[in-house]
Amino acid sequence: MVEQSTIWQAMDAAHHLHPFVDNGALAREGARMVTRAEGVYIWDAEGRQYLDAFAGLWCVNLGYGRPELAEAAARQMNELPYYNLFFKSSNVPAARLAQTLAELAPAHINHVFFTNSGSEANDTVFRMVRYFWALKGHPDKKVIIGRQNGYHGSTVAGASLGGMKSMHRQGGLPVPGVEHIRQPYWYDEGGDLSQDEFGLLAARALEEKILELGADNVAAFIAEPIQGAGGIIIPPSTYWPEIQRIVQKYDVLLVADEVICGFGRTGEWFGCDYFNIHADLMPIAKGLSSGYLPIGGVMVADHIAETLKQAGEEFSHGFTYSGHPVCAAVALENLRILKEERIIEQVRSQTAPYLQMQLQTLADHPLVGQIRGVGMLAAIELVADKHSRRRYDGNGRVGALCRDLALKQGLILRATGDTMLISPPLTITRDEINILVERAGQALDATQAALE
Ligand code: PLP
Repeated sequence: MVEQSTIWQAMDAAHHLHPFVDNGALAREGARMVTRAEGVYIWDAEGRQYLDAFAGLWCVNLGYGRPELAEAAARQMNELPYYNLFFKSSNVPAARLAQTLAELAPAHINHVFFTNSGSEANDTVFRMVRYFWALKGHPDKKVIIGRQNGYHGSTVAGASLGGMKSMHRQGGLPVPGVEHIRQPYWYDEGGDLSQDEFGLLAARALEEKILELGADNVAAFIAEPIQGAGGIIIPPSTYWPEIQRIVQKYDVLLVADEVICGFGRTGEWFGCDYFNIHADLMPIAKGLSSGYLPIGGVMVADHIAETLKQAGEEFSHGFTYSGHPVCAAVALENLRILKEERIIEQVRSQTAPYLQMQLQTLADHPLVGQIRGVGMLAAIELVADKHSRRRYDGNGRVGALCRDLALKQGLILRATGDTMLISPPLTITRDEINILVERAGQALDATQAALE
């Protein structure tokens, strides 16, 4: 097995450039070749098993190995493997999925525009909000405001709307017409303010930015209900109501990026349901198909959909694989299982409270500054000093160490800086949560020992 793995690693190192990695270092070390998965576990080519506490990339909501999804794909492949949605065509799975999504979304959202990914969903947002305002007779309402350390994908528009400095540095982003405000990250930036005071302060940065730019120039504000890649940053309870007040006052569209929060991650269908956010657009992807096939979209509020329908011309936007029938059939099956097995209710009432309670048993660990979570999302802050919330020097060195030591314990965690991120499949059981927390504790101990 080791020999076979080495052959695959060499092939990969010689010819494959990976996303979000130092490709030189990866080629020297060899990639972890993941060969199979079942439930919450994955196995590498050398036969090692890992509990995937990250659900792939926040996406395998149903867990791995559901045969129903494979069967749905095979059925649809045999019936209609492909047809496009351009030029007044449609296909049955795409139409059924659109209807199902409209039923699940908040009442004022009844349309979807399909894409293949979350990034493409946010590219669609970029074009749709500007087009919407032009149709409304406000062609100057163009600027989109995002947040520092937000993540909205990796395409030019997605990376521009996001506020990741490392992404902006490469390729001269953001593109013109995108601005960023501070994030509601109380733990790192809240200082001596209470969480509620800080939440208001962070939200009011939006009002200041709108006034600086002029409301007549601002098209939309985009934000994740809970920032995912930035560090599972859960805004204080004062944040979203204040944002809602501001966008309403200045007639600015609100885009809630549901790519991570959607489809049960918070214990509700959408992050908007959890925080009671009234969004105009909701980009979706990931959990829509539990990652079994690529599919995303933008959920569109009625007033925007009606404006597009009354435009009297085509919306010149779309993708060859928008509403791909096989991806749509798999997404439908995924949603059917989430609904019929009452998985989201189970998360809300049983497994998420248990996960959050068990994780708190690690809170006294000397390395841990804070453990926070909502639903099946949780973050562990690693600090040099618990009381002052002082970080270790070294730009994420401790987080990366902890992530690597967790792998040795058979646990996949992700690190953003020195924040450890947890986002397991929604189907994780109590016994598996116990294993997750035990291994996370071992990884923290090993990290502590390595730092001494
Ligand atoms: N939006 C959010 C909130 C995300 O977390 C991601 C991916 O992690 C994206 C958009 C981009 O999605 P994709 O990687 O499918 O393009």
